[in-house]
Amino acid sequence: MEYLYARLFADNPGLRGLFPYTMTQTRVAVFGLLARLVGMLDDEEATQGALGQLARDHRKFGVKEKHYRPFFDALFAMAEHVGGPVLTAEMAAAWRSALDYFAAVMSAAAAVDAQSQPAWWTGEVVQHDRRTETVAVLTIRPDRPLTYAAGQYIEVQAPRWPRVWRRYSIANAPRENGLIDIHVRAVPGGLVSNALVSHCATGDAVLLSSARGDMAVPADPGRDLVCVGGGTGLAPVKAIIEEVVGAARHGRRRAITLYVGARRSRDLYDMRDLETLRLAYPSLTVIPVAEHELDFAGRVGRLPDVVWTHPSFRDCDVYVAGPAGLVSATVKALSRRLPGDRLHHDPLEALQLARRPARPDALGQSVPAS
Ligand SMILES: Cc1cc2nc3c(=O)[nH]c(=O)nc-3n(C[C@H](O)[C@H](O)[C@H](O)COP(=O)(O)OP(=O)(O)OC[C@H]3O[C@@H](n4cnc5c(N)ncnc54)[C@H](O)[C@@H]3O)c2cc1C
Repeated sequence: MEYLYARLFADNPGLRGLFPYTMTQTRVAVFGLLARLVGMLDDEEATQGALGQLARDHRKFGVKEKHYRPFFDALFAMAEHVGGPVLTAEMAAAWRSALDYFAAVMSAAAAVDAQSQPAWWTGEVVQHDRRTETVAVLTIRPDRPLTYAAGQYIEVQAPRWPRVWRRYSIANAPRENGLIDIHVRAVPGGLVSNALVSHCATGDAVLLSSARGDMAVPADPGRDLVCVGGGTGLAPVKAIIEEVVGAARHGRRRAITLYVGARRSRDLYDMRDLETLRLAYPSLTVIPVAEHELDFAGRVGRLPDVVWTHPSFRDCDVYVAGPAGLVSATVKALSRRLPGDRLHHDPLEALQLARRPARPDALGQSVPAS
């Protein structure tokens, strides 16, 4: 991947400006994507879906149709470089035709997307509420309507780090006034999270991508909900709860149990809002869980262990959000107790990629350990 981007920027110096200052995460993400694409080439529908998503995702970087050719030329040069004499004329022709196909599908998908929505939105931070030393709740007003469903996430760019986008779950169901809440936890050494928590104030501008993600409220009103939110993983499950509470005005009141966890009780940063929600919707039970606080009045222990003791998951949909380790441990434990299609969470690979441990590379930049 280093060769690919070095070649791209050497041949097209003007393109460097489209990419962030540090390329580490871009290289890791694009490598993963290329590997997945190669693996699915026999499945045309899946390939087109992945390429289309890639094209839509890249619009927010300012990528235009004219940029596909130089990128795929650099990719082909990388194949020649890495393949050496192993790359026969027949293989080279296969690479070329695959890359032409990629470019055509991506151009078409980007053009269709551009007809329905902008490449990015400018958002004004209308409230910045520092709840704990490391967590802030930001309320953002997008400059144009931004469509999303409860449970989805957006990508956010802070002015401090141009072209660096990070995912944050939207913490509310769609509102008439269009305002969006995100819950951000500053991670040690993290670029965007620290910028949003410690170096951001009311009136600041941020950039927002379109919403993505498959976590959504189940259509079946017959089923109750068990929600599990660890740390800022509370954000998407809170949006889902708000959506269910809003829908209850027209139909059945679904029972909702929310397990909300943190290491210590003082890190449970949203209990006041949750109490307001509970008073408005008595079918909601909120169970606070602190991992390391033996004299805590709520439940004590690891969130997956506490959720495991939930009396019954019969006729329930379960939503799990939080750090990758928590989501995978909870999903692993619960998959023995309910069918997989009732267990909803963001993709584990994306969550794991977000927090790969870093080691310094030769240029002193941080590189995820392999
Ligand atoms: C689908 C999805 C939804 C997300 N929703 C939210 C959300 O609602 N709220 C939220 O705060 N975050 C959320 N994240 C995580 C978020 O996207 C960023 O990864 C996180 O804010 C760190 O970004 P950064 O730029 O500050 O750190 P980076 O500059 O990317 O990383 C710097 C260092 O921090 C480490 N690191 C990265 N993430 C973590 C972590 N979570 N814990 C500990 N160390 C870490 C890295 O290994 C690296 O060493 C979500 C991630 C995904 C994939």
